[in-house]
Amino acid sequence: MVDLPRLVCASANPDKVAEIALVLDGLVDLQPRPAGLGDVVEDAPDLEGNARLKAVAVCEAAGAPAVSDDTGLEVDALDGAPGVFSARYAGDDVSYQDNVDKLMVELERVGALTHEQRTARFRTAVMVVWPDGRALSVEGAAEGHIALTPAGYGGFGYDPVFVPAEGDGRTFAEMGDEKHEISHRGRAFRALAEALRGED
Ligand code: IMP
Repeated sequence: MVDLPRLVCASANPDKVAEIALVLDGLVDLQPRPAGLGDVVEDAPDLEGNARLKAVAVCEAAGAPAVSDDTGLEVDALDGAPGVFSARYAGDDVSYQDNVDKLMVELERVGALTHEQRTARFRTAVMVVWPDGRALSVEGAAEGHIALTPAGYGGFGYDPVFVPAEGDGRTFAEMGDEKHEISHRGRAFRALAEALRGED
């Protein structure tokens, strides 16, 4: 049996680690983020920059190749907000619900009340950094719109209000693992899998 390449996952979010492990299953040996590593300050101006900051920090701490991802929800009627600020849209230390509530209020405030006016996309940047300084970056996106009312209990974050264009009208939160087939992160990590295969 061939040993799988080891990659340390920079994310500490169990929701995301589970999704990533599913997509990379059989391709890499995904290791947890080193215990005791503090939060990395994500102050880059874009998703790729934040993904790089996290991958470099974890690669240095673990002394092993590290993979990180950064995701943003871009809403057209809000000029691309919350974008790189998606995790803290309603403020620091807020819940997913607080962010969703703020998004709904903002869309109402700008008068975006139809599906056509509520178009949006999730974008994910993925970065692998090796101890010798090599880096690999890929991305994935999912187009859709923000629902008028939340629906579903699965997933996390903005899933209850995001209706993917390639779906059947359900929100991501109403889907099970099928979310990964059309999601931004699923796409980005499948692109990573392709790129890693090409590295052999
Ligand atoms: P992160 O960069 O992956 O941590 O994502 C930043 C924020 O975007 C998270 O705190 C969530 O609110 C949101 N987010 C990321 N991925 C998803 C997703 O797959 N569904 C819904 N919201 C997400």
